[in-house]
Amino acid sequence: STESKSAIKQRHLEVADELVPSDPGQLYIGGEWRDSDSGDTLDTRDPTTGSVLAEVQAGGPVDIDRAVDAAWVAYHETWSDYSVTDRQATLHAIADRIEARADDFATIETLDNGKPISEARIDIDLVIDHFRYFAGACRVEEGRTLPSGPDHHIETLREPYGVVGQIIPWNFPLLMAAWKLAPALAAGNTIVLKPAEETPLSILELMREIDEILPAGVINVVTGYGPDAGAPLSHHDDIRKIAFTGSTEVGRTVMKNAADSITDITLELGGKSPLIVYPDADIETAAEVARVGMFHNTGECCCAGTRLFVHENIRDEFLNAFIDEVTSLTVGDPLREETTLGPKVTDEQVQRTLEYIEQARNSGADIVTGGGEPDEKALSDGCFVTPTVITDIDHESRAVQEEIFGPVETVFEWSEYDEMIDQANDVDYGLAAGVITSDLQQAHKTARDIEAGNIWVNTYNEFPAGQPFGGYKQSGIGRETAAETLEHYTQTKTINFDLK
Ligand code: NAD
Repeated sequence: STESKSAIKQRHLEVADELVPSDPGQLYIGGEWRDSDSGDTLDTRDPTTGSVLAEVQAGGPVDIDRAVDAAWVAYHETWSDYSVTDRQATLHAIADRIEARADDFATIETLDNGKPISEARIDIDLVIDHFRYFAGACRVEEGRTLPSGPDHHIETLREPYGVVGQIIPWNFPLLMAAWKLAPALAAGNTIVLKPAEETPLSILELMREIDEILPAGVINVVTGYGPDAGAPLSHHDDIRKIAFTGSTEVGRTVMKNAADSITDITLELGGKSPLIVYPDADIETAAEVARVGMFHNTGECCCAGTRLFVHENIRDEFLNAFIDEVTSLTVGDPLREETTLGPKVTDEQVQRTLEYIEQARNSGADIVTGGGEPDEKALSDGCFVTPTVITDIDHESRAVQEEIFGPVETVFEWSEYDEMIDQANDVDYGLAAGVITSDLQQAHKTARDIEAGNIWVNTYNEFPAGQPFGGYKQSGIGRETAAETLEHYTQTKTINFDLK
């Protein structure tokens, strides 16, 4: 960045002044805005400048109780009377509202999360697409008629759960909300949503925007910290289903909590995904796909291609092209169009990332580029980490086995196929993988040999609505973003008629 720190601060203040109300909204419960029961609040910060963007409510168990009650009232009094066409119309109306203010939503996301504005726009397009997809998908949900004798009729219905609880992370705040809200509403449920404490603003803005088109209590939003607001939601007796996206560690706690009341659960958790480059790959294309796979959203992607396996025949040539790609990233103010790598979401996340890099360095790994915070004074108040590439690192080391969730790539060389596949699968996670080759038969075999829920061939990080997304192994349970997600938000009722 050639700008001064004060110029960046000034721009952020002006934009925040326009888009973030000084009172951004309290808890949204039963269609009303209210303070938390405790009166506690929390600050959400702009990770580019370090300034406080807004103070929001820090909800707790009493607020969760109120939100769950409001959601049941809405379920019984309005939402369960909505026909499938009414629900479809509501989902389209939500999409229309977001579309009309797409730039505002993208900008709020960039302020609160730090993602480059060009990438925030992609998020918002996907958000709109998700609401529209589920507006259509709910029209084709059907029960079944079972074969039986002439004296019986047996049928199944897919019925909504009633009230569902949803907990989401900070890396794609509105997109993760859309992945949760759209299918749950389409299936006929009402909702209590707990956003991440780091990034509540776009969701609060969404509720302000759609307040007049949504019956009171159909979506309730309780902002707050995980242990105070998320935990009571995950073991609430009156929640019939819980959907969680976040770290595997917290996902395990949420699953244990849900076990107390035998609550159905879907989990979208962490990843440590391999990206495999074949010797026949076009080097430039491979380097670009690998850069997108790793550094999109500043590496804060659950499915990021964090372990790059490059065939020995092209290792040096590929690495040169890849380093060129990585060093060409523009680190800076994410509100600027040319920025391709923004800050991480919080200082805590910066420290976490730097610790992993330090461990790798101490273990004798080679930090080929990056490896710290940028030198530019203009960025020194922000949560920036330089894009980092590490080679000569032991596959058993923590930086390879654990999710860093920052802009840090680790590179491995392979020659024997079976050994490479064993290593690619040798992590606890199984969320995604990439294969880059011009031999589609080989790509298909590799895709089948990798234990992961999502495989991209000659591309990466594509999430069109309708394409199921979810993890193998410790990366999760269930699939989002597709018609089958409606199964996770409904339960089967079997009705057996004796016709005699
Ligand atoms: P996190 O697990 O720390 O927090 C996620 C959410 O859980 C937040 O809203 C948080 O407040 C809440 N929470 C924290 N403690 C809780 C508790 N005890 N009970 C209930 N809720 C609690 O994760 P994060 O740091 O916000 O997000 C990053 C993680 O999310 C990464 O591991 C990433 O891989 C994962 N992620 C997965 C997907 C996917 O689809 N698989 C998508 C995005 C992010």
